[in-house]
Amino acid sequence: MKIAIIGGGLAGCALAWVLHQLGQEPVVYEAGSELANGASGNFSGLYNPRFSALRGPDADFYSAAYALALRSFKTFDDIDWCPTGVLHVMDTEKKEKRLKRTVTNWDWASDHMHLVSSEEATKIAGVDIEYGALYLPDGGSIAPRKLCAAYMQNIEHYLNTPIENLEGIDADVIVLACGPAVLEFVPSLPIIPVRGQITQVKSTQKSANLKCGICYEGYLMPAQNGVHTLGATFQPSVDHSNIIKQDDQDNIQKLAEAIPGLEVGLEVLTQRASVRATSRNRFPIIGLAPEWDNVYISAAHGSYGILSSLMGAHLLADMIMDRPRCLPADVIAALSTQRFKKRS
Ligand SMILES: Cc1cc2nc3c(=O)[nH]c(=O)nc-3n(C[C@H](O)[C@H](O)[C@H](O)COP(=O)(O)OP(=O)(O)OC[C@H]3O[C@@H](n4cnc5c(N)ncnc54)[C@H](O)[C@@H]3O)c2cc1C
Repeated sequence: MKIAIIGGGLAGCALAWVLHQLGQEPVVYEAGSELANGASGNFSGLYNPRFSALRGPDADFYSAAYALALRSFKTFDDIDWCPTGVLHVMDTEKKEKRLKRTVTNWDWASDHMHLVSSEEATKIAGVDIEYGALYLPDGGSIAPRKLCAAYMQNIEHYLNTPIENLEGIDADVIVLACGPAVLEFVPSLPIIPVRGQITQVKSTQKSANLKCGICYEGYLMPAQNGVHTLGATFQPSVDHSNIIKQDDQDNIQKLAEAIPGLEVGLEVLTQRASVRATSRNRFPIIGLAPEWDNVYISAAHGSYGILSSLMGAHLLADMIMDRPRCLPADVIAALSTQRFKKRS
């Protein structure tokens, strides 16, 4: 079967990898001069599920994705995988209530998700944490750019090849994995661009003690070679990738509010801005494109694309190759483009 994938970010590369493992030879077309040209080009990213208070289809999706990612990351050598553990601090009453319900309702084995007091969080983190937290002991970070490269070993791909229309493509199946540019092919989808910037800062004597990832309104990763990654700004409906100096200050300010004192002396080294795509209900769009029978979509991965692109790749591979589905029907329905259809 001839399979063409439009877009060489996490969504397109993960799908190519999964299809290749299943004996297919997909071809990836990337508009940029390198893979991971868009949101997937960050130096470092946390692989986190998107938490919800209840255990519904979205929780089932991210739970399966997390387990799958942990198994898959082990198979790669050069993706800067750092399973340091991640603390999600409960720095507001609302967040505390929601994360406590997550722990109860998601009902993961406590080895993999549990609540910790501020004293325990401080011990785990190696820096003072004023709040209790939800702790994922096997959470951590990878380098999305390197993960794309790892997925794409042995995959035929063409750089500097922006696809403008689908009619001319010689393929039995086409997959749109081109982030916000999916709208150019299917304008009816409620995909929203969300600009974001991450900041790399030089560690201080104090911040160098940090031993695990920390999520608050932003996130901070432990220093690697004396450099922390601080994330990320979130600007809906902004679709440019220009650097905004104020964003670095905003990332530092969010850290200062969650872990006061840790921001002191952090020196900005570099930054990267790009545009995520998200959907109206912030859940990815994975499945058949509306009004097509051979065009699929993997998009709207929002701020959780490291996990959702891989899980989405397995689901799409099942659909394309007409295999038994790796996710239950209610999750597939929640991901599909059909969910946006107006009911008459
Ligand atoms: C600042 C920031 C921080 C983030 N932090 C995290 C994090 O810590 N953890 C996490 O899980 N996620 C994080 N994310 C989200 C994650 O990066 C995205 O969800 C993910 O990269 C989306 O992958 P994608 O392949 O769908 O899109 P993209 O990476 O944008 O890839 C789309 C590709 O398609 C190409 N393309 C576009 N149009 C065409 C065309 N016409 N023809 C050919 N190619 C085309 C583009 O050049 C691009 O390379 C972050 C995002 C941002 C912006």
